Amino acid sequence: MGFLSSLFGGGSSAGSNDAPRYTSVRIHPAVDNGVKPGAAGFGGGALKCHCTTDKVVVEISGQTAHNHVCGCSKCWKPKGATFSQVAVVSRDKVAVTENGEKLDRVDAHAAIQRYACKGCGVHMYGRIENKDHPFHGLDFVHTELSQASGWAAPEFAAFVSSILEAGYAPDKMGPVRGRLTELGLTPYDCLSPALMDAIATHIGKANGTQKG
Ligand SMILES: [Zn+2]
Ligand SMILES: [Zn+2]
Repeated sequence: MGFLSSLFGGGSSAGSNDAPRYTSVRIHPAVDNGVKPGAAGFGGGALKCHCTTDKVVVEISGQTAHNHVCGCSKCWKPKGATFSQVAVVSRDKVAVTENGEKLDRVDAHAAIQRYACKGCGVHMYGRIENKDHPFHGLDFVHTELSQASGWAAPEFAAFVSSILEAGYAPDKMGPVRGRLTELGLTPYDCLSPALMDAIATHIGKANGTQKG
């Protein structure tokens, strides 16, 4: 094989050095077999809870943003998953359309008011009511609750170290970060730099150190 083709990954040896090594590490069912790309022009879909009858239905009338996997202890995770998968969407694009009486707030004092189904425990959406919060106006949703394909793909992994709080083995953090990295989900122990910058800029504007 020529020098150029080896540089650009041509030929049968492509990828032999960077084959996935951590495929046995479970992150979340939506990404364990590889991250699926979102579809251009995707217009949303219906999120449904896990009840067998009288499902809570939340219609999302648009594409989500900042989708990511999250290791914090507050986000809802499907059974057996190490991480949640969570994205944001403008709150005016979120509407409870069926069985909304089954929803209840998980913690009325939390910054993000998560609304869970009383029947199955699934979190249907999270809302911020504090108008001074950097993410006010955005709802948090789990697009895996929708049958539609084309939702924005997860882009990074947040609060990775927090899985230890839920009992994950400290000596297995290396493989977890290795798996996230080979999935293209850069692991961070807070939010991504873009979101941390957005939060800090918001705080700077509130205290006058950032103009504009
Ligand atoms: Zn339910
Ligand atoms: Zn979280």
